Amino acid sequence: MRLILMGPPGAGKGTQARVVAEHFGVPAISTGDIFRANVSQGTALGVEAKRYMDAGEYVPDDVTNRMVRDRIDEPDAAPGFLLDGYPRTLDQVEELDGMIAHTGHSLDAAVVLTVDPEELVQRLLQRAQTDGRTDDTEDVIRRRQEVYAEQTEPLIGVYRERGILVELDGMGEVSAVTQRIFDALDVIPQS
Ligand code: ADP
Repeated sequence: MRLILMGPPGAGKGTQARVVAEHFGVPAISTGDIFRANVSQGTALGVEAKRYMDAGEYVPDDVTNRMVRDRIDEPDAAPGFLLDGYPRTLDQVEELDGMIAHTGHSLDAAVVLTVDPEELVQRLLQRAQTDGRTDDTEDVIRRRQEVYAEQTEPLIGVYRERGILVELDGMGEVSAVTQRIFDALDVIPQS
């Protein structure tokens, strides 16, 4: 199973990614988590990424693409993977196509979680109090929503045209959203 999970910041991608990946027996690969791990380890990648993350901007495509390519090449991702937070730009879509074509497979589904804009901000402000992420301040949250609308929303049309888009309601209980994802994906043929 080769899946991508999309949705604006606060849509619940990370939460759902872990459960859904386990259900399909594939690794959940979160670009945000990999960047944060690099930041806390103080690697060169982390130092570069942090500047962008703290401003609510996307890390440059060449950096992100290289990182995902390396991760997907690891043995545990050979049977498939769930990407959380990648691709987010049209350039990343093209890169991912190349990475997957190289393995002789194709993307099975692009899941998009839809949540009301005000609910998104509330969820992230809530998370700011519990998780202390440095990019969960109100200004940066709003900037991340704008960047998503400008750079990532257009990807929805790309995957819709390919016939692999699965648009789901991300509102309500976490377990209810998980069930919606399972119901939609369990009937999809895997490549
Ligand atoms: P959220 O979806 O809540 O914004 P993430 O944890 O997925 O959070 O990402 C945090 C930050 O990491 C983003 O704001 C961005 O700076 C960077 N990032 C994550 N994924 C990508 C990507 N695919 N391309 C560029 N930057 C990314």
